[in-house]
Amino acid sequence: MSNYHIKHLEEYYQVYRKSIREPENFWEEVAEEHFMWRKKWDNVLSWDFSKPEVKWFEGAQLNITENCIDRHLATRADKTAILFEPNDPKEPAEHITYKQLYERVNQFANVLKDQGIKKGDRVCIYLPMIPELAISVLACARIGAIHSVVFAGFSSTALSTRINDSDCKMVVTSDGSYRGSKTIDLKGIVDEALEDCDGIESVLVAKRINTDINMKAGRDQWLQPLLDKASTVCKVEIMNAEDPLFILYTSGSTGKPKGMVHSTGGYMVYTAYTFKNVFQYRENDVYWCTADIGWITGHSYIVYGPLANGATTLMFEGVPSYPDFGRFWEVVEKHKVNQFYTAPTAIRALAKQGMELVDKYDLSSLKVLGSVGEPINEEAWHWYNDNIGKKNSPIVDTWWQTETGGIMISPIPFVTPTKPTYATLPFIGIQPALMDEDGKELKGNQVDGRLCIKFPWPSMARTIWGNHQRYKDTYFSAYENKYFTGDGALRDEVGYYRITGRVDDVIIVSGHNLGTAPIEDAINEHPAVAESAIVGFPHDIKGNALYGYVILKDFGETRDQNNLRKEINQIITEHIGPIAKLDKIQFTSGLPKTRSGKIMRRILRKIACKDTSNLGDTSTLLNPEVVQDIMDNAL
Ligand code: ATP
Ligand code: MG
Repeated sequence: MSNYHIKHLEEYYQVYRKSIREPENFWEEVAEEHFMWRKKWDNVLSWDFSKPEVKWFEGAQLNITENCIDRHLATRADKTAILFEPNDPKEPAEHITYKQLYERVNQFANVLKDQGIKKGDRVCIYLPMIPELAISVLACARIGAIHSVVFAGFSSTALSTRINDSDCKMVVTSDGSYRGSKTIDLKGIVDEALEDCDGIESVLVAKRINTDINMKAGRDQWLQPLLDKASTVCKVEIMNAEDPLFILYTSGSTGKPKGMVHSTGGYMVYTAYTFKNVFQYRENDVYWCTADIGWITGHSYIVYGPLANGATTLMFEGVPSYPDFGRFWEVVEKHKVNQFYTAPTAIRALAKQGMELVDKYDLSSLKVLGSVGEPINEEAWHWYNDNIGKKNSPIVDTWWQTETGGIMISPIPFVTPTKPTYATLPFIGIQPALMDEDGKELKGNQVDGRLCIKFPWPSMARTIWGNHQRYKDTYFSAYENKYFTGDGALRDEVGYYRITGRVDDVIIVSGHNLGTAPIEDAINEHPAVAESAIVGFPHDIKGNALYGYVILKDFGETRDQNNLRKEINQIITEHIGPIAKLDKIQFTSGLPKTRSGKIMRRILRKIACKDTSNLGDTSTLLNPEVVQDIMDNAL
């Protein structure tokens, strides 16, 4: 019997128990049944969290692109692999079949080889969400080059830091990119970045916006003429299961980004297995994840996980607000999307717009809705559930990290009963532990602590590029023999997990530990509130007090601010208790966010503590202008 597709809750518990009792047998079966290996492993797992060292499927040989492309050709050659929806809705969508993907990846791989890229070399990919992005990622994987995708919204400084950190030899970019009604001069950003990067030997430039750009002789080349000349056949490089597949830097919400290194075999097995189960993907479904491939969500659940399953994966170049805030729903209707995976920040922004732009479109194709990136607050959850899913499409609130490679805690749709704000149950094979501050594991249910994982899973990052010590210090030193996630969580009476926020953001008020997520969740219940963030600041008596930054919905701005403050504290008292009442509430037009849309609380904390001389690394901020505004109006 295949245990690839979980179908009911009892089966989940059965498979889960097996995956915990006999992890090696369990993952060996999954790996054996569903993938193409050039050589099978000698050993399923060896691990030692004290070093830390983890190896899955040691001795096995494979190429992940054979699993994502070649093996589908027999049965799915004409099936759409990548469905590209351009920024401009008037530009036709592009259906790239598995056969075409095979040819285009091979051509690209041959170009890389001609340019002297070899197994183990690092290639930086700085491209907008156009097909060349997915194709270049796969082309690197085909020849064993390690890709390092940098989100194409990052600044030149953020780009050069990442290029230098991993010693990339090549950059793949484009002449520019579209973002809603704007165009962005990507090549100009690359040129600026490369002034500080001595290691880059060549730059390949895809044409997207047909603008005049500067091409540096001897370094820069247009991509298309090279592709046109290249053969559509390229033999795969045979990789060991533990060879690095890619480097990806964490979002940078908390500080200097870390170059996480992911393996080939384990990463493939886990992302494919989670994709199939968490989205309940069926053969003719159209799956859409709105993330950018520049984030781990895009790596695992736009490219590798879906393609390893022979799925149709939609790649969207645009933004949710262009030409208007109905764009997501227009695309769902147009392509009859079945699984839709997005982030709470997008859901909140869309919910703020009202319903006309939702009701215009037929969303009846949707079967599963996903959320990732931040805790989803209750109001946003219900909005998503009622208006997008029409109460028919389960929401999978998926908790995971760049470091974990794949989804770790999540409902399985139609299997796990969902509960707003809860990521619910650990995925198959995942062994979470909640720890108290003294390093003791909290057993049983109805406990609240720091979230760790106590057993390896196949897609965990193996190290931080060039800094194994930092990897050990950050993730394996807080608690002996456990991977520490940096997040806090609680386990309810039935064993469901709720992520309460980052441990760094936990605020101790009068001796009570308060996570940010539940308090923000309560604040957001107020009908006039669009979004909020809370931080702590020193207080003589309580040790710390709470400072809230609140964005109001349009109509809220006409309300009396002091009354609003009282009402917000009233809601907090009802939902959590008077201990969590805010001492200060600043109304603001925006919150500092990372480019992946997450609130950067460390900056807000500094402002609340009136310590603004050094705000730390802000190169990953989406909206730096808002910081000054918040400082000017600080309480
Ligand atoms: P950095 O590690 O550089 O500070 P980051 O943590 O934002 O950046 P990611 O790896 O993209 O980088 O994000 C993972 C984090 O996002 C998790 O540790 C968690 O805090 C948050 N997160 C992701 N998904 C969820 C979710 N479903 N519920 C709650 N929090 C989530
Ligand atoms: Mg993190």
